[in-house]
Amino acid sequence: MPEKRLLDIRNLDAFYGAFQALFGISLYAERGETLAIIGANSAGKSTLMKAIVGLVTTRNAEIRFAGGELAGRPTQQIVREGIALVPEGRRLFRSLSVEENLLVGGHLHRPGPWSLANVYDLFPVLREKRHQPSTSLSGGQQQMVAIGRALMANPDLVLIDELSLGLAPIVIRDIYAALPRVTAAGTSAIIVEQDTSQALAVANRVYCLRGGRITLEGTPASLTRDAISAAYFGV
Ligand code: ATP
Repeated sequence: MPEKRLLDIRNLDAFYGAFQALFGISLYAERGETLAIIGANSAGKSTLMKAIVGLVTTRNAEIRFAGGELAGRPTQQIVREGIALVPEGRRLFRSLSVEENLLVGGHLHRPGPWSLANVYDLFPVLREKRHQPSTSLSGGQQQMVAIGRALMANPDLVLIDELSLGLAPIVIRDIYAALPRVTAAGTSAIIVEQDTSQALAVANRVYCLRGGRITLEGTPASLTRDAISAAYFGV
């Protein structure tokens, strides 16, 4: 029987050289959940996403995923195990078309529900623009390509860093409208979101980070506005 906890992180410290960016992070995600990570600039949200996929140095951490231990493993192996990251700023391949970017995401041929056709059904505008250079798309459409590229790896868990930052409200709405279809397909999600109300609307559970530490955790219904403000701003 698969473990209910898809991801279980205990006691994660993360470093950039001598600088410690995360302190004793413990966090879990159950299968089918959408988690939101909220917090102000420099709280450590992106570092946490990178730590999960092995892109920053961690110490002491236990990072259990689908029953196996990820800490210390190389990123490529972590992707093979079933975690895909949509990085902050999207990092599309600028010289490639929309479709070529998506196909790069599928290069591991991990089995699962996602294919070009399903990604185009999720974000129909990408089907229309599939032969265009990715750089000709709006920021929001590029975010759809970045999410689609991650889904093409058929991950069990997709991490989306700064989902809505700098994007037009209408496209943010479209991306959020698509998220339930992602989890319905069996892909759990962790989203990093500076827009707290957006995060609370979509997530099963929320973690707030400040100064590299978790300052609040709970279901949206259990968290008061005052508690969130205190955890977010420290006032
Ligand atoms: P933002 O919304 O601004 O991206 P964040 O919550 O994602 O904020 P991080 O980017 O994780 O925060 O940064 C956490 C801390 O780590 C900050 O103090 C930041 O200055 C530091 N930091 C981030 N990246 C690096 C790096 N490559 N080298 C050194 N320090 C870094």
